Amino acid sequence: MQKRGHIIGGKEAPSVSGKTFATTNPATEEVIAEIADGAAQDVDLAVASARKAYTEGPWRSLPPWERGRLLAKVAEIIRRKSDELALLDAIDCGKPLKDNKYGDLPLCVRIFEYYGGVPDKYPGKVHPSERGMFNLSIREPYGVVAGIVPWNYPFLNSCIKLAPALAAGNTVVLKMAEQTPLSTIELGAICLEAGIPPGVVNVVNGGREAGAALAQHPQIDKISFTGSTATGKAILRAAAERILPVTLELGGKSPSVVFADADLEQTVAGVLFSAFFNAGQICTTGSRLLVEESIAAEFTERLAAAAARLRIGDPVLETTDLGPLVDKTQLARVRQYVELGKAEGAQVAYEGRISATRGYFVAPLIFSAVTPSMRIAQEEIFGPVLSVIPFQDEADAVKKANDVAYGLAASVWTSNFGRALRMAQAIEAGSVWMNTVEYWEPSVPYGGQKQSGLGEDFGLEAYHTYTKAKSIFMNYTSSKLTWGAGT
Ligand code: NAD
Repeated sequence: MQKRGHIIGGKEAPSVSGKTFATTNPATEEVIAEIADGAAQDVDLAVASARKAYTEGPWRSLPPWERGRLLAKVAEIIRRKSDELALLDAIDCGKPLKDNKYGDLPLCVRIFEYYGGVPDKYPGKVHPSERGMFNLSIREPYGVVAGIVPWNYPFLNSCIKLAPALAAGNTVVLKMAEQTPLSTIELGAICLEAGIPPGVVNVVNGGREAGAALAQHPQIDKISFTGSTATGKAILRAAAERILPVTLELGGKSPSVVFADADLEQTVAGVLFSAFFNAGQICTTGSRLLVEESIAAEFTERLAAAAARLRIGDPVLETTDLGPLVDKTQLARVRQYVELGKAEGAQVAYEGRISATRGYFVAPLIFSAVTPSMRIAQEEIFGPVLSVIPFQDEADAVKKANDVAYGLAASVWTSNFGRALRMAQAIEAGSVWMNTVEYWEPSVPYGGQKQSGLGEDFGLEAYHTYTKAKSIFMNYTSSKLTWGAGT
């Protein structure tokens, strides 16, 4: 069995307390590694290492193209180690191997390549000024960034935080969720292998205690968090004490909105993918199917038939579509929501079957006869449970789409281009996909509205949020300042 530590100051180290926790394979329930369990003292060491690397350099003082070159090197190593990294997330998280190999990892490579190209192409500004006065408006890194991330896309979530923060010249302390530490420790090691100086990227393992210690640490200059809305609120409160800038990527209850004029074959595939991909454990999971009433029954039947063909099984097999949930707690939570849905009066239109005798597997389930006020239609379940809600017309679809506290994403399925654009404008969400779903580009900003978040990941927007403004005014005349009686 593997033993893995924190990465602090360029070295892999055990916890100060010597404590460890086990990480398990959710498909087999077997322990796969013992991990150093971080607490406040480990966070102190990691933050001190990041602070030293920031103030003593050379990271932020490297020529921008040199930082870029090192990020491109990280991309190259990720590409070379893709098979190994894909396997790590499959056994530690239960994510199907093929999704990691052909989805997450190519995207991670592109994220590092994209941000590798940014540092020498993000200029400051000179604003028109009065004669004799010249100004420079420049961006500077914040300093030490805390990146706190969840387990659902372990390697990808870590890359999304790390690449733009580093590109902008910050040093970073990353904390992955306790359920899935392995690939993030490996990311820390890859950064060292690429030649990023020791202390620039630090990784602390552990759970809520380590996360809270990091969020409250007095030497942190910015927090970038992805996770639940409840934890996001706790982080915002911690940041308020020190007026720290915060980026929050939080939960969702995203609608797939299907009109009768849509290409139904393509739409069934898209809605199925959005609802059940990664066993419904995506922040943007299309967990509410809003479907035009005239086709609701037929569409639900076609969807159920497609769901019945999903292959549920061991995530390390390339034939698997749906793996297990990440742990026992998530399994209990999803089962509770299934019971709640039945108690609220929803009908089970489809429920899959699980043949595994161990592991945290849950069968995909489609609820029909769901009304918008039911808790299963309002709360994030984070499992493969889809609620079908019929709508009458465009106005009703907009009303129902927006009738939740979240505003992360939505997909709209229609052959009417004007309608698709009207819907995209009317839906309160950070991302709207039209006749496609769950699609990202590293260059396109991604963020949540309402209780789904603050600020953006991806794009130049994310780079910008890892920098702060400095305005410099220069007087280039010999004229003196005159004020009051003058001097
Ligand atoms: P979580 O909020 O429980 O945990 C996320 C991270 O925060 C973990 O590393 C955890 O250890 C840490 N943490 C927990 N309590 C903390 C505290 N008080 N202070 C600081 N850190 C703390 O979330 P989760 O259950 O691991 O992940 C699932 C959630 O993440 C879902 O709500 C999902 O929608 C959301 N998510 C959002 C996005 C997005 O981009 N919007 C992406 C992925 C996941």
